[in-house]
Amino acid sequence: MYFRCLVGHATVIAYLHRFGLEESDTCSCDGNRDDINHWLFQCKFNSTASVYMMNELATLGVPFPQSQTSLLYSSTRNSSIRKTLWDFFKRARRKI
Ligand SMILES: [Zn+2]
Repeated sequence: MYFRCLVGHATVIAYLHRFGLEESDTCSCDGNRDDINHWLFQCKFNSTASVYMMNELATLGVPFPQSQTSLLYSSTRNSSIRKTLWDFFKRARRKI
């Protein structure tokens, strides 16, 4: 999962829609486009895991708002950020 996110191939709905595997590119939680950014920070199905992740990142001094691109890039250089992301992947209710 982590590496698929890093290279932009995470199987979020917008990604699957691009290949004709989903009719729409939106998430059923709120009707917004379901990209990696939505899945990490905005998806209502993952809200508990997202809040936990953002609190952990705040303790690491990671500024917000944060794009998934900069967060994922930072995680390649910082093992604490990488661990926090892996914890999010485990805690996320909606798996991708
Ligand atoms: Zn959602």
